[in-house]
Amino acid sequence: MLYTIIGAGIGGLTTALAFEKNGIDYQIFEQTPDLLEVGAGIWLAPNALQVLDHIGVLEEVQQKGNTINRITLGKADLSPLSDNYQDTIEKIFGFTTIAIHRAKLQKLLFDKIPTSKIHLGKGFNKYEELENGKIKVVFDDGHTVETDYLIGADGIHSKVRKQLFPTSNTRYSGQTCWRGIAELALDEEFHHRGMELWGNQIRFGISRISENKVYWFAVAIDKPNEKDQNQETHNKLLTMFQDFHPMVTNLISATPKEKIMRNDISDLKPLEVWHKNNILLIGDAGHATTPNMGQGGAQAIEDAYYLSELLKQESTKNIFEIFQQKREKKVHQIVKQSWNTGKMAHWKYGKGIRNFLLKNAPKKMIEKQMLTMYQIDKTVSIH
Ligand SMILES: Cc1cc2nc3c(=O)[nH]c(=O)nc-3n(C[C@H](O)[C@H](O)[C@H](O)COP(=O)(O)OP(=O)(O)OC[C@H]3O[C@@H](n4cnc5c(N)ncnc54)[C@H](O)[C@@H]3O)c2cc1C
Repeated sequence: MLYTIIGAGIGGLTTALAFEKNGIDYQIFEQTPDLLEVGAGIWLAPNALQVLDHIGVLEEVQQKGNTINRITLGKADLSPLSDNYQDTIEKIFGFTTIAIHRAKLQKLLFDKIPTSKIHLGKGFNKYEELENGKIKVVFDDGHTVETDYLIGADGIHSKVRKQLFPTSNTRYSGQTCWRGIAELALDEEFHHRGMELWGNQIRFGISRISENKVYWFAVAIDKPNEKDQNQETHNKLLTMFQDFHPMVTNLISATPKEKIMRNDISDLKPLEVWHKNNILLIGDAGHATTPNMGQGGAQAIEDAYYLSELLKQESTKNIFEIFQQKREKKVHQIVKQSWNTGKMAHWKYGKGIRNFLLKNAPKKMIEKQMLTMYQIDKTVSIH
């Protein structure tokens, strides 16, 4: 049985490697001619790292990224609202979170896939379900392939999903995000800390991703689809964050102007089903979340693991249905909690109460929530 994966993002590449490990026949198609990922970082939480360990790339990810073992949510001046040392997490899983350049992650995953199985510059255009049960996949350049199963891993604006479920909708969160990588040496005390600072309806995240490289993001409320001129972004952000801890404006200043990216923050209105006949959606294509919990990529990576573990088991059951049953509770919980966290971060009123509650939330409770989120089922069974 041949599985055709559309999209070589984090989800598609990890799925390819998980299939490779389990001897599942696949091919993967990506629209971009080269995999030059955006100049931003990504946090890989322990649930993602367990899967990366399973497919044999954890060590390289650890070498190329930076360990985060303390996560601070603070006020604009960096005074903590909640400060979580990750000791228990490390004891249980053997590692904490890794912050890494997206391009490095993408490249190291890509390099492990046999070249005969990955095809770049192939934009999916549409599929046709044939009478013999197979699926014909048509690409933008007119090229076609036949496959037994189709897996849409083509991100939040998935074309596979638009054909499969034409009424599916993304939801704009009301927030827009700038991301950049500063060339700067952080003070040692910040080397292994992930930080998010909440100010007056704006916030700023910081984490070192390698020596002298720091990934940051800035979030503000705005109308959808607004654009900045390259030259104005720097000054705009410097003004916006002038009252924050000085590290923030230093980071903005140390980022090449033309390399700051801006994206609106959206998610996907939860779908009732992620599959139909022999077609399945995974990752952002099936359940995109806002990034407030740093879990979108991790959930795409978890999908890869569960799907490949289910498919390797001989069964006449509908594996795509079982896959959704195994995954949807956690995914929907993350989508919901992330959406609410994003809203709360930008509250206009009630910040005093919010900060009081965050400061006084029992550490054990936060730890328990993290542990639940980071857990994956080590013995995935179709039963
Ligand atoms: C600001 C921000 C910060 C984030 N931070 C984190 C974080 O710290 N940790 C975390 O875990 N997640 C984070 N995420 C979420 C994470 O980036 C996504 O959840 C993750 O990239 C989803 O992976 P994916 O493979 O499903 O989709 P994508 O990574 O979007 O990949 C989709 C791929 O499909 C390709 N494609 C699209 N259309 C077609 C087509 N028609 N034909 C062929 N190929 C196609 C695209 O080119 C792309 O390569 C963040 C997201 C944002 C917006």
